[in-house]
Amino acid sequence: MSKNLTKRAEDYSKWYNELVVKADLAENSGVRGCMVIKPYGFAIWEKMQAELDRMFKETGHQNAYFPLFVPKSMFEAEEKNAEGFAKECAIVTHYRLKNDEDNPGKLKVDENAKLEEELIVRPTSEAIIWSTYKGWVQSYRDLPLLINQWANVVRWEMRTRLFLRTAEFLWQEGHTAHATKQEAIEESEKMMNVYADFAQNFMAIPVIKGLKTETERFAGAEETYCIEALMQDGKALQAGTSHFLGQNFAKAFDVKFANAEGKQEYVWGTSWGVSTRLMGALVMTHSDDLGLVLPPNLAPIQVVIVPIFKTDEEFERISTVVIDLVAQFKKLNISVKFDNRTTHKPGFKFAEWELKGVPVRIAVGPKDLEQKTFEIARRDTLTKEVVAQDGIVSYISDLLETIQSDLFNKALNYRDTHITEVQNFEEFKDVLENKTGFVSAHWDGTAETEEKIKELTKATIRCIPLDGRDEEGKCVLTGSKSERRVLFAKAY
Ligand code: AMP
Repeated sequence: MSKNLTKRAEDYSKWYNELVVKADLAENSGVRGCMVIKPYGFAIWEKMQAELDRMFKETGHQNAYFPLFVPKSMFEAEEKNAEGFAKECAIVTHYRLKNDEDNPGKLKVDENAKLEEELIVRPTSEAIIWSTYKGWVQSYRDLPLLINQWANVVRWEMRTRLFLRTAEFLWQEGHTAHATKQEAIEESEKMMNVYADFAQNFMAIPVIKGLKTETERFAGAEETYCIEALMQDGKALQAGTSHFLGQNFAKAFDVKFANAEGKQEYVWGTSWGVSTRLMGALVMTHSDDLGLVLPPNLAPIQVVIVPIFKTDEEFERISTVVIDLVAQFKKLNISVKFDNRTTHKPGFKFAEWELKGVPVRIAVGPKDLEQKTFEIARRDTLTKEVVAQDGIVSYISDLLETIQSDLFNKALNYRDTHITEVQNFEEFKDVLENKTGFVSAHWDGTAETEEKIKELTKATIRCIPLDGRDEEGKCVLTGSKSERRVLFAKAY
């Protein structure tokens, strides 16, 4: 089965597309740019959602739900935001179809059912949410508002890729309102930290925390914080963003509050989101030429048990042992599958679970019954060992933790060996052509230079790292003065 998978070194992008489909994560749909997320892929997304949702609630946020449609005038209220998203908007103009007399069996738009005002299918929900907040905030006692919504949004993307960039995608969007600038900035930073924590500790994906440049900033934000990850082909991926919105949306929607002295002030805002793009990050960070490699925290099946037998009698004896084992795993909340299909050979099952990234495989045959052992195989290292049945459950439980941290360390090592400091533009180009990854370089801080570098190399500024130290230097392109290095990379 996995024999058919294109190798990463041959064509990384083809490998990715094939893997997503073959591992049953998602497939393209009959709608341009929109995907179908299949049950196995959705189970992983649900695990991400559950953990993020827990983290949001732990940091004081509540879930709510706002409409899919935004009236055009409402959408236009915050001008920069509207302008930034204008080119990606889907618009509803009519609400009814009718029979097309000239084309029997076909329907056409009923011109009598034209909407008085067009509706924008939300590309992001600041407009609808801030128009609602106007009614929710009167006094400083109503603040802060700490709201999150799980939703779908539509951005009419021209070049789409399964999970990484789709026209409709699933995400969560947090929208908060605060009495002070300081508190809103702290909230944006806090949520960037929540995302980084989630990516690193739950998804085993190392990320760099940073600020976006003005060019890459969210339309309508004063500042965009981000987490950037590095994929195995050396390209960067924006994995999550958190925006400090200043008072921009409060001013656009007239959201004011009476402070403790009774004076009217505009509210300060933030918004932050991660999407199904994280599924792409997961695949591209850990997987290999045989298929998916899932960190135990996200694996819908953490342990698969494959019986090796010739006779019915052997199968029954093995099943008795396995059924007891499964019950023990369940007690520890370890998700386990006993692959007792009699229609498929063990070799086929091994390849299938390898392709699907199950972290641990237990094989058990007649010899294991005799010797009271199991054969344990790790998906991440592809190593096998024979382990005594006695104490197996705590052994596997520890092994799952080891795999989780080994995956993170492996990805971290890759990432850290793919950040190259360069002194001049020759070195800059050389790294992008030969080594790939992040290029740490001095930049003069202007949008023109950023654009020029993008034109020349396709690399963009991924972020101004927050843990970067001040270091005087000269811009790699113009030689002008620079105070710190920024991270460039080719990106998804
Ligand atoms: P933004 O609202 O632009 O800051 O994006 C919020 C999150 O959604 C970021 O983590 C983006 O990486 C992700 N994202 C943006 N556009 C898409 C898309 N077309 N498909 C999937 N995820 C996206």
